[in-house]
Amino acid sequence: MKQKHYVIGNWKLYLDREKSIEHAIAIEKNKSIVSSDALEIVVCPSHVNLDKISGINKSVSLGAQDCGFENSGAHTGQVSPDDLVSIGCEYVIIGHSERRYQLGETDDVINRKIIAALKSGLVPIVCFGETFEANEKGISGEFVKNQIKSAFEGVSLEDNQRVIVAYEPVWAIYPSKHVVTTQHVHEMVEIIHKTCSPVLGGAYSYCVVYGGSVTGENVANFIDLPGINGVLPGHASTDSSEFAKIIAIVNDML
Ligand code: PEP
Repeated sequence: MKQKHYVIGNWKLYLDREKSIEHAIAIEKNKSIVSSDALEIVVCPSHVNLDKISGINKSVSLGAQDCGFENSGAHTGQVSPDDLVSIGCEYVIIGHSERRYQLGETDDVINRKIIAALKSGLVPIVCFGETFEANEKGISGEFVKNQIKSAFEGVSLEDNQRVIVAYEPVWAIYPSKHVVTTQHVHEMVEIIHKTCSPVLGGAYSYCVVYGGSVTGENVANFIDLPGINGVLPGHASTDSSEFAKIIAIVNDML
């Protein structure tokens, strides 16, 4: 069985409510933006817009950009994974570098969020990636290995559970002007598989996608690499024609 591919659009905080709705309508009208057995398309709007976008986007799947680690209780501002499921989310991004470095989200919090998301039936899209400094020091592999080990500590996937592992070098995320080479991504993806496979189990329990300034211009370079099953564009996914271009290229390569 061939493993499924993914195009996951992380809208971040680029689109306000009105623009999110416009974008969702444009996506829904474009008949080439449709999930299939081979390619799953996921859109991840901001939390407050999820409910609304869930009602508009029927031909693609819905993901949240984060979740809390509990479903109820004294946890001000947290978002219940169960509630995300009840409004139509199937996926949730966890451990994005913008949460790690802008908000100080720790490995322990990320681990708890992964466990909570799985328990609620969400597929966690867990982000890993070295900082600019770690890359400069030549310790990218060690850096990401440690992140992965902490994130999945105590996680053991049941038969119906899976995880998407996103390799996102922090220094290559838009608006950074640093360009990652496909050789670097290739080497890192090999390390990621070697680290994830004993922890997460067989080839069908997880897959690896790449994120970091993915556009219609460069997406083919990443999809072409062994061990990569999709992409996670951020900025480029907020433009409906660029998003459609990325999807068309990935579809052509499957
Ligand atoms: C992201 O941070 O998820 C991302 C990959 O963003 P961008 O494509 O904008 O670099």
